Amino acid sequence: MIRPRVIDGRYRRLRFVSGGLLLALFFGGPWLRWGGRQALWWDLPGRQLHLGASTFWPQDLSLLAGVLAAAAFGLFVATVYAGRIWCGYACPQSLWLWMFHFCQRATEGRRGTPTRARRLAKHSLWLLLALATGFTLVGYFSPIRELAQHLGQNAASLWLLLVTLATWLNAGWLREQVCIHLCPYGRFQSVMLDRDSLIVAYDITRGEPRAHAGRGGDCVDCTLCVQVCPTGIDIRDGLQAACLSCGACADACDSVMRKLGKPEGLVRYASEQALEGGRTHWLRPRLIGYAAMLLSITAGLAWALAQRPLLALDISKDRLLYRESADGRLENVYRLTLANKTDQPRRYRLTASGPAGLELHGATLVEVPAQSQASQPVRLVLARQALTQGSAVVQFSATDSEGGTGSARAESRFTGPQP
Ligand code: SF4
Ligand code: SF4
Repeated sequence: MIRPRVIDGRYRRLRFVSGGLLLALFFGGPWLRWGGRQALWWDLPGRQLHLGASTFWPQDLSLLAGVLAAAAFGLFVATVYAGRIWCGYACPQSLWLWMFHFCQRATEGRRGTPTRARRLAKHSLWLLLALATGFTLVGYFSPIRELAQHLGQNAASLWLLLVTLATWLNAGWLREQVCIHLCPYGRFQSVMLDRDSLIVAYDITRGEPRAHAGRGGDCVDCTLCVQVCPTGIDIRDGLQAACLSCGACADACDSVMRKLGKPEGLVRYASEQALEGGRTHWLRPRLIGYAAMLLSITAGLAWALAQRPLLALDISKDRLLYRESADGRLENVYRLTLANKTDQPRRYRLTASGPAGLELHGATLVEVPAQSQASQPVRLVLARQALTQGSAVVQFSATDSEGGTGSARAESRFTGPQP
């Protein structure tokens, strides 16, 4: 199990700031409130996703695909520009790894075999951290303020237990092995990098890595860069799939260079072009292509969000094909489901159109509470002779009686006996 040493430096401080912000967002997110409810809440039984003022329904699933596509292209841009920077500064696996390392150092120190009491202290801290993680993650799906009161009584408690265990096993035991062997992103990063991407590299122009200072190289072979590495690799052997681009080795080597009175940057972020004395091309076709895709998808998402209908209408037709009413006319039964996606209760007027003489029977004014849906059974009645071909298309529409959310339309079929 790797127990990396800690050396202060600018990249460590940068990791501290980026990691601190992301962790504050993660742990604080479910406690935010909006309009009397949890601001960030994926209500799975209610099939709604609440993000601040907006609520998304299953009909909005296409937007989620857009968000995922934008995230993928964002990652492509970051990777082509600066290699595996996501891993070093923002990936949850790395953040939890750093936190678990901190607990381990605080209790066991870095060297020697720890006593049983120290190991117990470490596992207690790890479990506490894993429990906080599980509690927070489950709190995004089940209201966090009530979660503690209902522990042991609902399915959320089981999930809390599972996430806690998974976090403890993952960050405590699997640790860097996930980054090295399991993470698919780490596998395909080599395909995305080019000679202009920023990578963490040893500057070979300043001497062979293992030649001592007195023999012409700047590297004194102190191995500090290896001791601080969370994946235990030696960056002097060149770029490796296990490198997380965290910059810890650059911080370590800079501290050595400062003590030796030599220029910093023997290990640094640089492109292969720059390391070979050339010029890094920041604007290159691949980077521009990914950035253009990212911008277009983001613009498309913003447009789709602005145009998102605030009323949805679904129709399900009764299994019984048709029946005849007392006066000999044909009847079809439907269930209309109206989803009001606004923060206000709304009244919707229902209408139907189709073959001449079609009549809509049942309640035609439906009240739907805010951010809710309501179902309304209705009947369509049609004279037998008006249905010439055994079935016909009918259209339902629901219109906001005060005009606020506009209207929604949906189609179904009216069926009768075959001619
Ligand atoms: S080689 Fe350097 S940048 Fe890469 S993971 Fe190790 S310490 Fe981080
Ligand atoms: S920290 Fe710098 S000087 Fe020390 S072994 Fe690594 S590259 Fe060489």
